[in-house]
Formats: sequence, C-alpha cells, structure tokens
Amino acid sequence: MRSAHSKYINIIIMFVLLVFAAQTFAKNAINNVRIRPSAESTRVVFDLSKKPEFSYFVLQKPLRLVVDFENTKQLPKLPAIPKKHRVISKIRYSKPKKKNATRVVFELNGPTKPVIFALAPTGSSSNRLVVDLYGQKKAAPVKSTNKKRELKRDRDIVIAIDAGHGGQDPGSIGPSGTFEKHITLQIAKRLAKLINKEPGMSAQLTRSGDYFLKLNTRTAKARTRRADFFVSIHADAFSSPKPRGASVWTLSLRRANSEIGKWLENKEKQSQLLGGAAGVIKDTENEKYLAKALLDMSMDHSMKTGFQVAEEIVSELKKVAKLHKKRPQAANFGVLKSPDIPSILVETGFISNPQEERQLKTAYHQQRLANAVFVSIKRYYQKNPPDDSLFARLKEQKPLHHKVKRGESLSLLAARYGTTVSALKKVNRLKNNTLHIGQVLTIPKA
Ligand SMILES: [Zn+2]
Repeated sequence: MRSAHSKYINIIIMFVLLVFAAQTFAKNAINNVRIRPSAESTRVVFDLSKKPEFSYFVLQKPLRLVVDFENTKQLPKLPAIPKKHRVISKIRYSKPKKKNATRVVFELNGPTKPVIFALAPTGSSSNRLVVDLYGQKKAAPVKSTNKKRELKRDRDIVIAIDAGHGGQDPGSIGPSGTFEKHITLQIAKRLAKLINKEPGMSAQLTRSGDYFLKLNTRTAKARTRRADFFVSIHADAFSSPKPRGASVWTLSLRRANSEIGKWLENKEKQSQLLGGAAGVIKDTENEKYLAKALLDMSMDHSMKTGFQVAEEIVSELKKVAKLHKKRPQAANFGVLKSPDIPSILVETGFISNPQEERQLKTAYHQQRLANAVFVSIKRYYQKNPPDDSLFARLKEQKPLHHKVKRGESLSLLAARYGTTVSALKKVNRLKNNTLHIGQVLTIPKA
C-alpha cells in the first residue's frame, strides 16, 4: 500500500514482535544460519535453541539492518554471501549494546523492506528467527523511483464517496415518490465538489450516475483508488411516516471480527492489506497468529478513525438537521466491512417522513448536509494527517517551500496550497506573474 500505510504496518510488525518476545532468561544460542535467496526476497533463517528475544532497526549510510538477540550466544562463523547478491553484501557480528546479547549486522546493497518474525518449533525444525529482505524490483531504475517518490509527497487525502443504491435498486421511496438513489447521488456529488476544492484532499465517487453497483464493488473501488476514508450516503425509511432525523453509522465489532475471519481464509485479501508481509504468512499456527494480529490492529485503527470522524459528523449535523441518534451507531451494514479503510455510513434523514422528504430534495438542505460531512472529515484529517499528505506538511510549523515545475502558474499554486496569488507574490517579492521552472517559492501559511 501507500508509504504511510506500510509505515503503519511496520510499526504494527514491531509491536507484534514485542508480543512474540519470549520471557526466558536462560541463555539462548544461535545454532545455525541459513540463507535462501529467491527471485523476490532473500530469507535468512537463524536456528536457535530457544525462543528468541530480539529487536531490530535500520541504519542509513551505509544501509544496514541490525538485529539484536538478547541473552544469546553467537555462532563461531556466519555464512558467506554469494558475490553480487542483489540484496545483501555481507552478514557480520558487531558489538552489542547489551551484555550477553548478540548483534548481527546485514550490510545491504539497496533499500529493502525487512520482515522479521519468530517461528515456533515444528517437526524437525527448532525455534527460528526469520529475516526476509525484499529487494527493489530490478527493472525500476533508481532515477524513476526517486521521481515517483517526489510526486507522492504532499499527496491528497483521498475520500471515497459512495452514493447509496442506484439503477435497478431505488433504495427507499418517499411518500411523494422521491427515490433515495437520486438524493444520495446529489448529496454525494455536492460533497465531492467541496472536497475537490480543498487543497490536499480529493474525492472519488463509487458511482457518478444512476446505475447499479454491488456492495463489494463499492469497497473494491475505494481500495483501488487508494482511499483513506470511505463514506456511504443514504436516506432512512420507516414503515410509519413519523420517525425523522439523521444518523451516522460505523462498523460493529462483531461484524469486524467475522470479516477478519474471512480475510484470514483469503490469501488475496491478506496481500491487499499486508503488502509484503502477506507473502511470508504461511499456514503454521505461529504465522496465522501474526496475520490475525496484523488484521486485528488494522481493523482496530479503521474502527477508531471511523468512530472519531462519525463523532465529528454528528456534532456538525446537529447544527443543520434533526438527529435521529445523538451518538454514532455501530451496525452490521454490508458496505462497512473493510479492515483497511475507515468507513462510515451517513443516513441523511428519513425519506419516509413527508417533511424530511421535501427537505432532502432541496439544494439548500443537501448542501448543508454535504458541508457538515465535509467539514468533519477535513477537521479530523487536519488533526490526524497521514505522514505523506499535504495536510501533514501544512500542519508543520516550518515554512513551506515549493519548487516550480513545468506548467505551474501562480494561480495554480495558490489554489493548491489554499492561499492567494497576491499573498504568494508578496511573500516572494515577485514583481510580475512569471515563474521559472526550478524556482523555489515560499508558501505563506493559510
Ligand atoms: Zn439506503
């Protein structure tokens, strides 16, 4: 996934490793070290006499992976690395920080993604520590990956907006014949417009017209478009005309747990979520536990984010609409089930209530609802921006600089950073509107 996400996964992996760390005090020993290079990764396996207690970190310049084994006796000799190995150039010992520990240093040939985990004894195998190093794809020259990374910084936070129902599925139908599917699309489009106008945010509609989409297609679309957040727009209905008011729904814990169970059975889904880590998750009990722990924590993060945004939305909706429920509600909705994307569902009002049906049809009310949802999501991400987002950069106190690229104008940059052309000119002491490629501009704080 995206770099912020993989960073998150890395933190999770570190955390899981701490859980794995054994509470044994007797001295451990490295009995053997095996190297198994493959096309995509290099696996180094340490055979140990006991469950390893370990930690690791990466050092730059030169690039090294350092693994510390606590309270462990080292092997007399480490295996040599084949010449011109793609990922590792050398494995050696180094002086450990702690007494009785063993420090192993992997000298690396290029950036890799280490995945490190312990395995319990099975059959003829003893306790093991597995170090998987994923090399960069050979085909990608360094220059182009640098370029890619540069483009990915200051990225937009992507909000997937899902207009409920559509096509053959009209959703609920109001007393005067209003279809829910039309109302949801109108509000979704208004919300998308607000988001796309905001520097650092962009919207992705799961449907932009009146057609039918399966629930799975809706979440799959959000995933392929790398959405940070998923919001589904609906209008409620009841058998009697009386109930009214808006409500916000989040994923229920029970549903979350059953979804995690399903993802664990599905290798393809695992790899969508876990990226490189999924490849190493095989069928042993220990590794299944690792996969479950990762999924649990990802789901936990999604649910927490979903709930926090839902709370913001409830407090904003209160200003513009009657509320049916004063708190976010947990529910078993089919569309809310991605462990990797925080998701909520907004019931904008009761289409079965004649007064609200009338209201929901007006541009004025639709706009107020869209705005309440927009302001809430924006506020959440201003407080909690992903590391690689423009929001994160704007949150920093440091002055922001921008290197002018081909085709960029002052008005374009003003819109991107949420400032004005005159403010840009003033801060940079520009006499006219001409920009040069490579020119570095200071961006005033909004
Ligand atoms: Zn609906």
